[in-house]
Amino acid sequence: MNAERLNHYRRTLEAQLADLVSATREHEEQIDGSRTTEDFTGPDRASDLESLEVDASVTASERKLAAKIRHALERIDLGTYGLCEACGAAIPEARLEAKPSVSLCLHCQEAHEAA
Ligand SMILES: [Zn+2]
Repeated sequence: MNAERLNHYRRTLEAQLADLVSATREHEEQIDGSRTTEDFTGPDRASDLESLEVDASVTASERKLAAKIRHALERIDLGTYGLCEACGAAIPEARLEAKPSVSLCLHCQEAHEAA
């Protein structure tokens, strides 16, 4: 992949990561806020815990995606970006364009999901 394309993906990934980090921070503040104001006492305790659980799983999946994006940025630095981590084949640009943090070719992704 040429330097221009790599820079394009680096910028896209960095923008996604910045958005994600601020979204995660916002969600964490919401969780902290509900924790201190509600204090988990009173009749609504169960529903409070339920909504907290949803938020915690949201931030968990956001953190997971952030880790994938950071990993993709590392791979740009290492010069392995755009190559499948499982089989080493070049990942089609259309696939990278749709999801720049992807690290497996479609074939390996399907094998991974079926496993
Ligand atoms: Zn592969």
